[in-house]
Amino acid sequence: MKFHPYTYLRLSVIDQCNFNCFYCRPSLRNHFLRDDERLSFPEMLSIVRCLADYGTKHIRFTGGEPLLRAHLLDLVQEISSVKELECLSLTTNGLLLSSFCRALKDKGVKKINVSLDTLKKERFRRLTGVDAFEKVRSSLLRVKQAGLEVVKLNCIIIKDFNDDEILDFVAFGQTHGIEVRFIEYFQTQARCDASSFVYLSTDEVKEIIRNKYGTLELLGSDCHAGPAQYYHLKGEETRVGFISSVTEFFCGACNRLRLTSDGKLYPCLHSAYHVDLRKPLRENDGARVRALIEEVFFDKKLYNKFYCPESIEMSRMGG
Ligand code: SAM
Ligand code: SF4
Repeated sequence: MKFHPYTYLRLSVIDQCNFNCFYCRPSLRNHFLRDDERLSFPEMLSIVRCLADYGTKHIRFTGGEPLLRAHLLDLVQEISSVKELECLSLTTNGLLLSSFCRALKDKGVKKINVSLDTLKKERFRRLTGVDAFEKVRSSLLRVKQAGLEVVKLNCIIIKDFNDDEILDFVAFGQTHGIEVRFIEYFQTQARCDASSFVYLSTDEVKEIIRNKYGTLELLGSDCHAGPAQYYHLKGEETRVGFISSVTEFFCGACNRLRLTSDGKLYPCLHSAYHVDLRKPLRENDGARVRALIEEVFFDKKLYNKFYCPESIEMSRMGG
């Protein structure tokens, strides 16, 4: 068995969402997967086992909104029994999190990322289409109290939408011991009119933070994780992270693969190229599944963000 360096799988368990963030807009999609089109849990487990045999160490559950997938905890439990894995994590919009956080921890999830782009109630409603800021905020604090190893807050900074909240986010993270990661928004060219939103670069965000906190001390990135770079703020305890999807070219060091909930394995968020694992799985053709996975390993280095297809559907790909 040939080991590979792609140690991190983002596993999208469902393509539906209970939010409709204006930069993602799942409601504009014209097709959501039927139950029989989605991979079953045994099918997902079988792909995860296979990838773990090749060296995958970290599985992140994502979506759509992963907590909408019925019986998700059963899947988490089954995947947590794969002994080669070192970390299970989950990315969520937080709406349903408070009722899940203890059970997720008990089933083996170590890290939770909550996506939250504003700390203002009305802005939150405009962004997501749902009046649920308080609920997400309290879920986030509750999950921290539940004793998860790592709780992170992912925040996309968009000019003239939330760029006046950067220092509020830093202060929020320090007060509650939650790592805040500032993410550069990138245009997905999906059906929504995302072209009218403009990202603020990591350098611009750092400058605003430096003006208040002084020098940012680089700590580096985490093992088997994504491309976030972490920094220490003088006199503060909790790290701050940056994901510079637009201004940095980290594709050469990318360790991530992506599996959609209907079984398509992508070497890159930006590649139209993928292999369909569902068909050979349902034909019980394990050799074909492994051959297709090896094809993706081999081809991964050919794909990067310059091969962006016409439209990325983040709610299908899992971010
Ligand atoms: N629904 C869950 C959530 O929002 O956390 C998981 C799926 S969501 C697609 C995963 C991540 O992708 C979120 O953190 C979201 O903010 C991010 N995302 C979506 N569209 C994006 C874009 N155009 N640029 C950068 N990040 C994006
Ligand atoms: Fe849903 Fe996440 Fe997309 Fe927002 S970013 S609409 S929460 S999938």
